Amino acid sequence: MSRQHPDTLDQVPLQSLGGVGPRTAERLAKLGIHSVQDILLHLPLRYQDRTRLTPVRDLREGDQAVVEGEIIDADIRVGRRRSLLLALADGSGQLTLRFFHFSTAQRQTLAIGNRVRCFGEVRQGPNSLEMVHPEYRAIAEETEGDGDFGMEESLTPIYPTTEGIHQIAWRNLTERALEVLKKSAWGMRELLPAELLDEMALPTLGEAIRILHRPPPDTSLQSMSDGDHPAFRRLAFEELLAHQIGLRLSRKRRRGHQAPVVHAQGSLRQALRAALPFDLTQAQQRVIAEILADLRQDHPMMRLAQGDVGSGKTLVAAAAALEAIEAGYQVALMAPTELLAEQHLRNFRHWLTPLGIEVGWLASRTKGKEREAILAHLEAGELPLIIGTHALFQSDVEFGNLGLVIVDEQHRFGVHQRMALRDKGAGAQRVPHQLIMTATPIPRTLAMSAYADLDLSVINELPPGRTPVTTVALSDSRRDEVIERVRAACVEGRQAYWVCTLIEESEALQAQAAEETCRQLQEGLPDLRIGLVHGRLKPADKEQTMRAFQEGELDLLVATTVIEVGVDVPNASLMIIENPERLGLAQLHQLRGRVGRGGQLSHCVLMYHPPLSQNGRERLNVMRQTNDGFVIARKDLEIRGPGEVLGTRQTGEMQFRIADLMRDQALMPEIQRIADALLESHPDNAAALIGRWIGDNHRYIDA
Ligand code: ADP
Ligand code: MG
Repeated sequence: MSRQHPDTLDQVPLQSLGGVGPRTAERLAKLGIHSVQDILLHLPLRYQDRTRLTPVRDLREGDQAVVEGEIIDADIRVGRRRSLLLALADGSGQLTLRFFHFSTAQRQTLAIGNRVRCFGEVRQGPNSLEMVHPEYRAIAEETEGDGDFGMEESLTPIYPTTEGIHQIAWRNLTERALEVLKKSAWGMRELLPAELLDEMALPTLGEAIRILHRPPPDTSLQSMSDGDHPAFRRLAFEELLAHQIGLRLSRKRRRGHQAPVVHAQGSLRQALRAALPFDLTQAQQRVIAEILADLRQDHPMMRLAQGDVGSGKTLVAAAAALEAIEAGYQVALMAPTELLAEQHLRNFRHWLTPLGIEVGWLASRTKGKEREAILAHLEAGELPLIIGTHALFQSDVEFGNLGLVIVDEQHRFGVHQRMALRDKGAGAQRVPHQLIMTATPIPRTLAMSAYADLDLSVINELPPGRTPVTTVALSDSRRDEVIERVRAACVEGRQAYWVCTLIEESEALQAQAAEETCRQLQEGLPDLRIGLVHGRLKPADKEQTMRAFQEGELDLLVATTVIEVGVDVPNASLMIIENPERLGLAQLHQLRGRVGRGGQLSHCVLMYHPPLSQNGRERLNVMRQTNDGFVIARKDLEIRGPGEVLGTRQTGEMQFRIADLMRDQALMPEIQRIADALLESHPDNAAALIGRWIGDNHRYIDA
């Protein structure tokens, strides 16, 4: 690989631009801007067109425009607010200029008979279109006819900024950075093949950057703000390509690692299957086969098993675990919450104990002697299966012979944690296989970019006999009716959930609210047996309540969103969700997935607090209209964006400077193709792309 030229603009400090003192540098650093290259990649949020005069007749509401004309009327209104109203006429029409603050000097400039040029946003006033507090300047008589006087030569960029850096400063900074770019041959090397740019009708990197900072007057503002201008797409393409290449390299590097080869007859698996009261679905069988094929390889599996709520992922995990155990390896299964981990523990003990397999437990609350015993047992390689929470990641947890790690992610774990168990592999040189299970259906194009380093299996089928959940939205003013409905269902022998939501992050407050709701429901429904679970209960109490509910000893379970993941009680067929408008669609889908697991018709009541926002109404409608996790995920993406949906917003992963996974999806197939071609024929360009867009502080690099 050729060394990068020392002159590349990511190495050139800001101070070299001139006019950047330590204070400005510090402020820029807050925006992640450290080099001249960072300045060039800091793109405007939007643009204003100050390159031409717009005839008043052509103005529409919402436009930002420059107009020029004569003041033909001036008036001071003393209504609710004192204001100066001016009528400006340019021969094509009349526009009102409105000022709430004005000095005598201003009134002189804006006196009747004077010509002015104004820039501002057009809005509909009471009588005509207006500009409120436009920027303006007087135009002297003699310049009349010289239409370009004072006009800009390119669209005016408006940059995202931080306190203390004005737009003028940004324009100066980018102006100087563009100068440097022009002069330096090596500044930002073109890394994409010329044929590709030709074929896709994309500009070169240098051109794209120049256009984005200083769009020529004829540039369509619409295409710039929609992000489909070729200059914009060019950069988005390059950035997505860099990530794609990074993920591919990481996958390739993984293939170079040794993994324990899992050779087994499958007798444990067969035994479990024989003991089940149902057959595996086709989809479950296919995904199990995909996993087993991976386990037989001598490089580590990295597979994402995606399946909608209730698609039966747990059994898929169990089949994989049994295969590894039969081959003599240890398996670790990790869940994002203690409640969910406990449920896995129950399921696995139920399935595996008859097969003579011991199942261990490790959570952060496992302490003292108990913990020591488990750790020793694990380190000696004697405990075949351990289930727990992130406590399994801790550095003093060592495995004698770890062969497979299963993460029931449910999008609670950051992607970065995937790797944390890697070093705990069977023998120092070996990396365990990894299986990640997720219930969030990720649209294909998104999966291609977000999870390009993983192999993907989709459980695209629900077990037979599931009936779709009927969902209604009701205002909480009808709470009494809803309570009555719960009573009616429970009297018929069915069970129900009552889910309390609270925006507060605090578990304590959530618990309090759930306790209060539970008390009220007990009052309103004295005949029902009501239980309560929330995050602040002791695990043993929680466990006991859950078990009681599972065994039908409770009719109604009042819960916080802790039950969102995994809880499985087929006889529960009614769910009330309070204030569903506070939750994301994916979360609602997860919650609702707790019902509709048995044969009977199930119902979900979304009991919202009016008034609903437009967005809130739209989201509840989505929930009423479909039970399809894919449709819901798609809507969720549209409404909240991929950072939220993939759960990577907080960790800063999958955050792009320019690209937007939703908007730029259409680029993905081409990016896939180019990633391969570039890695094949220009590996040093591929490496330089990663350097430019990802740097070296990134998970992809040494994952
Ligand atoms: P999820 O994919 O949401 O984790 P689970 O693994 O919890 O789903 O399975 C949901 C329920 O479906 C469980 O009660 C499980 O026993 C049951 N189940 C799983 N596979 C099948 C199948 N092939 N046929 C019938 N029921 C199944
Ligand atoms: Mg599950």
